[in-house]
This record gives sequence, C-alpha cells and structure tokens, in this order.
Amino acid sequence: MIDVNRQGEVWVFAEQHDGKLEETSIELMSKARHLADTLKVRLAALLPGDEVRHLSTELIHYGADKVYLAEHPLLRTYQTNSYAKVILGLIGKHKPQIVLYGATAAGRDLAPRVASAAKAGLTADCTDLQIGTHKTAKDGEVHENLLFQIRPAFGGNIVATIINYDRWPQMATVREGVMPMPEPNPNHHGVIVTEAVSLAQDDLPIEILQEHKRAKKVDLKAARIIVAGGAGVGSKENFKLIWDLANCLGAAPAATRPAVDLGFIDHDHQVGQTGTTVRPSLYIAVGISGAIQHQAGMAQSQKIVAINNDPEAPILGIAHYKIVGDLNEVVPKMIRAIKEKGVKD
Ligand SMILES: Cc1cc2nc3c(=O)[nH]c(=O)nc-3n(C[C@H](O)[C@H](O)[C@H](O)COP(=O)(O)OP(=O)(O)OC[C@H]3O[C@@H](n4cnc5c(N)ncnc54)[C@H](O)[C@@H]3O)c2cc1C
Repeated sequence: MIDVNRQGEVWVFAEQHDGKLEETSIELMSKARHLADTLKVRLAALLPGDEVRHLSTELIHYGADKVYLAEHPLLRTYQTNSYAKVILGLIGKHKPQIVLYGATAAGRDLAPRVASAAKAGLTADCTDLQIGTHKTAKDGEVHENLLFQIRPAFGGNIVATIINYDRWPQMATVREGVMPMPEPNPNHHGVIVTEAVSLAQDDLPIEILQEHKRAKKVDLKAARIIVAGGAGVGSKENFKLIWDLANCLGAAPAATRPAVDLGFIDHDHQVGQTGTTVRPSLYIAVGISGAIQHQAGMAQSQKIVAINNDPEAPILGIAHYKIVGDLNEVVPKMIRAIKEKGVKD
C-alpha cells in the first residue's frame, strides 16, 4: 500500500505480446487520458518487455505524457512473477494514484498479484471509470477526486460503483472493447523514462522453452457486421442458418453463452459479459432473449436487428429493427432476399 498521493500519475499497464500492443491497452489510453486531464496529472504508460522501445512512441501518440520503459530479456514473455515484481517496484518508486490494466488473460492474472502484494484494492472487469466525490457514511468525511470503478455485479443485475479512498493506488481491470479505440495523434509529445530492471532466472518459477499459440478462430471485435444466434436456434445443425446468413452478409458469426454451452459453436464466438464486447455497425440477434449479460457485450452496436418469436423478449426493447416471428421462417427469407438483391453498403 502506498500513501494517498493526490499528485500521483494515472498509469496504464501497456500489455504487449511479441512486440505488439494489446488493443485493450490502447483502448484504455483514451479513458485514462480523460481521467488524468480531470485530475490535472500526467498520464503514463508502463511498458515492461524485451526490445519494446519502439512501442513507446506509439503509446505517446495514443496520449501518454510519459512511458516507463522496463526492458529485460526475462520480460520477453509474460510471466506473473517477473511482471509483478517490476510493476511493484515502479509503484513503490513513483507512487501513481491510479493503475489500470486491460481485463485480458494477462491483466486478470497480473493485477490481483500486484494488488495483493501492494495491499491495495482492485476492481475487476470494469465497464466504466469516472472521477467523483464520495462522502463516507460512518464519519461524513468527504473524499474528492476518487476513481469510480463501475461494473456489473450480482450476475449483471445491478451496476455497482466501487471506490477505494485509503488503500492506494486505486486499481482496476477494464473489460476489452468497452472503451472506444482512440485515434493516434503524431503531434502529441511525451518522454520515455528508461527504468533499470534487476531480474534473475531464480525470480521465475518456470523457464519457457517453447511457445505454441492458438490463434483465435474469429476476431469479433474487428467485425463490421455480426450475426449472433441464441438458444432459440435449437441445435448445432440448425445453427447452420446463422453461418449461412453471416456468410451471405460477409459477417462474423457469434452466439450467446447458452448457445456456446450447448455446443452450437465454440467459445471464441461468445458475446457478452463473459465473452467478447463488440460494437459493430450491424448486429443481428437471432433467437436471443437479450439477457443483461448478453446486452453487456453488444448493446453499443450501431444498429441492432432482432428476430424473436416472443414479442416480450428484452432484446426487442433495444433493437432498432424488430422482427417478431419464427427464425426458421424469417432467416431463410432474409438469405434468399440478400442473395437475390445483393448487399449495398
Ligand atoms: C455471471 C453470468 C455471466 C454470463 N455471461 C453471459 C455472456 O457472456 N453472454 C451471454 O449471452 N450470456 C451470458 N450469461 C447468460 C445470460 O444470463 C442468459 O442466460 C443468456 O444470455 C440467454 O441466452 P439466449 O438468449 O441464447 O437464451 P434464452 O434466454 O433461452 O432465449 C432464447 C430466445 O429465443 C427465442 N426463440 C426460441 N425459439 C425461437 C424461434 N423459433 N424463433 C425466434 N425466436 C425463438 C425465445 O423467445 C427466447 O427469447 C451469463 C450469465 C451469468 C449469470
């Protein structure tokens, strides 16, 4: 735990793999820039890795005033212990007031380790972050300029705002895809602070000999059009309707959690609170009720078309175009019409 430090910087853990920044870290930069401006402090990116100096400029163009560059051969591949050791050292040295991580596999692993060693709080899986004031009920003390860490709670049925006024730094992981991707600004200037890193193989519980990575089968975040199927599609065989509609629109196929659990399609395609968050130009929801946990991952789509045989289905409440009917009749008609008339942008 560090002392409450009102002049402390806002930090983003700049996650990179193989010398390429994770998209979530870039998304975080825009929100972190806003937080830092509100607090009138500097925004810094924390960049551990090996031979990653070239990413510093990229981070500065995405809004960082400073990049703490921590390079070492043992930081080439992400490992909890080495990364946590480096970050803890830097937190102790520079005393930031906020540290943000993407809720990626590495971020979800690293942030709790850092939080527990630093005896600081951590809110996982935030969907929004704001700066605000809080008055504590027990003594009426007013705490200004706190980080409001906002996330769905109790299975997504409420949205909780979590604060941490005395166990600093205030730390949060942020869900992928919920913050808009900023445009790089080549005119934004910042400084690179090269940090000495002292690490030995003994600091790491495992030695990595080889890496084998499985590429994701689909990049839902990059898809402009998504056709998603739910439990209402009924079977893996019938899910072919979703693939067919997606294919003729040049769209990515996606699904709800039950559709994944029932084996209609694999987990890479899941949209929602425990899947991917997407914001395509067009989201076609087929046989999906629109539970809050699903909406958490798609409600920010620009246009939503919903096909459902229940006029009371919640998805129809957020859809821009609502089709009440049996998907087994509606989807084949849509495919036929698209094939006959073609798709115009
Ligand atoms: C902690 C937690 C995390 C979760 N994470 C996620 C997540 O990431 N993503 C997610 O999707 N869910 C998630 N869920 C599950 C979520 O609560 C819902 O159960 C789920 O989204 C419902 O999926 P569904 O719409 O496919 O199924 P259902 O709710 O069963 O809806 C099926 C819909 O299909 C319609 N239908 C049926 N037959 C037809 C037909 N012939 N024609 C047209 N319409 C038809 C029905 O009217 C109904 O609206 C999570 C739940 C919890 C508790």
